[in-house]
This record gives sequence, structure tokens and C-alpha cells, in this order.
Amino acid sequence: MLEVDSLVMDFGGFRAVDRCSLKVEEGTITGLIGPNGAGKTTLFNIIAGALFPTSGHVRYRGEDITGLASDRRFHKGLVRTFQIPHEFHRLTVLENLMMVPPQQAGESLFANWFQWRRVKGVEAQTERRAHETLRFLELSHLAQERAGNLSGGQKKLLELGRTMMTDAKLVLLDEPAAGVNRTLLRKLEEKIATLHRERGYTFILIEHDMEMIEKLCDPVICMAEGRVLVEGDFAHVRSDPRVLEAYLGE
Ligand code: ADP
Repeated sequence: MLEVDSLVMDFGGFRAVDRCSLKVEEGTITGLIGPNGAGKTTLFNIIAGALFPTSGHVRYRGEDITGLASDRRFHKGLVRTFQIPHEFHRLTVLENLMMVPPQQAGESLFANWFQWRRVKGVEAQTERRAHETLRFLELSHLAQERAGNLSGGQKKLLELGRTMMTDAKLVLLDEPAAGVNRTLLRKLEEKIATLHRERGYTFILIEHDMEMIEKLCDPVICMAEGRVLVEGDFAHVRSDPRVLEAYLGE
């Protein structure tokens, strides 16, 4: 579904991604781990189209998308979750979901407002989908709550919900477990697993929480120094001495 081929990203004289190549099969939940500074976020930014690489290629469903703008990727179902923008904290949970119709172009409030006006005609349909999403996430009781009042874990669920308002096929999750309490973490894992199993989403997730990686991800890819160090199932990656060494050198 996704192929990254010999990707290089230089920042000035510093090489953050160094001839990185990997493949993501459709229908998997691929875990991306590695010590701080390994290049995971930079790689995500390149896959999402927020950064363009110095050299190398990204192919998505057979198409070379290396130079494609992020909104065009979004239309193709390649979606990255973002933190809820600051301006959206004053909006309700339901409004946050309704601000992400499938045609959404960007994340700016301005763009969304026009989009909002433009989709007024299909508002009922969007609202129905938003309520379904809230039921799925077990957040219906918070529909009218301001997003800014949610806990860290509830915000993560809402971020996941925002991708469900799109026609996502490949979803990039950047540290979904960060700042989430144990109870909501289990719920978040369960929802990701259900979206994968029942709705056919493919996920790539960057995560430091090894319990989440072990539960959800196969394969697991460990990056270090800008490239893939070890790849395989969790047990294989965990037992590779090079992985431990990379973390110790952090
Ligand atoms: P990870 O997500 O694995 O922690 P990053 O992709 O964030 O790693 O960073 C990889 C390396 O690239 C780090 O050393 C980081 O300091 C550097 N880096 C990331 N973004 C930039 C940037 N915009 N300018 C300069 N260096 C950067």
C-alpha cells in the first residue's frame, strides 16, 4: 500500500533520514519505534506531505506521490491525525467532528469555515456521521462539551474520530498513547483494533508505549539514525540486540 524508497532528508548539513526504505502492506497495523532522534517524525512528515524529501520516493497504492501536496494525499485516503487545533478548543466535540467533512482540504479554521458553509446542504448527513462516530468512540455523552475541556485520552479519541469523518484508508498516528491514562488507553487500543478489523483501515503508528506496540502492531519497524534497523514481529524486534543498543545510545 505504501512504499518508501531510499528516502533522504537533509536539514542543512544534518541528515535526519538516511536512505530509508520500507513497505507497508494493506490491512496491517505497522508500528514505528526507535530512540529519540531516529527520524520517525521526519519520515511521517514526508509520508503525509508536510515535508518534501531531499531525495528518494514515496509510493502510495502504486502511484508516486513524492511531490504531491498533503491535501491531495488526504483526498486519496492518506490521513494523518493532528492535535485538535487550538482554535477548535472552544467548539463542541460534535462541531469538531462536523468540521471534517470528507472533502476537507486543510486544518486552518478559515478553510474549515468556508468548507462548513459549503457543506451546509449535506449538514444532516455529516451530523449523522458525527453522531455515529461518537457512539463508536463511546463519547456521545460529551457531544456538547467544549473540546478544550476533554481529558488527554478523550482528546486522542476525538482525534481518531476526526479521521473517521474522512474516507481514510491509511492512517498515520503519531504517539496516540502520549498523555493518556491507563483506562482510556485500553479503550483507544480497542477502537484502533476495531477500525482495523471491521473497517479495513491500515495504520502506521509511532509509539513509545511498548505495551501498545505489542498488542496492536505487526510488523514492528525499529528505526535508528534515519533508517530501518530491524523489522519483524514484536518478539523478533524486541530480542534483537541492535535494538537494545540503539536505545541505550539514545
Ligand atoms: P524522532 O521522531 O525519531 O524522535 P525526528 O524525526 O523528530 O526523530 O528527528 C530526527 C533528527 O532530525 C533529530 O536529530 C532532529 O533534531 C532533526 N530534525 C528534525 N526536524 C528538523 C528540522 N526542521 N531542522 C533541523 N533538524 C531537524
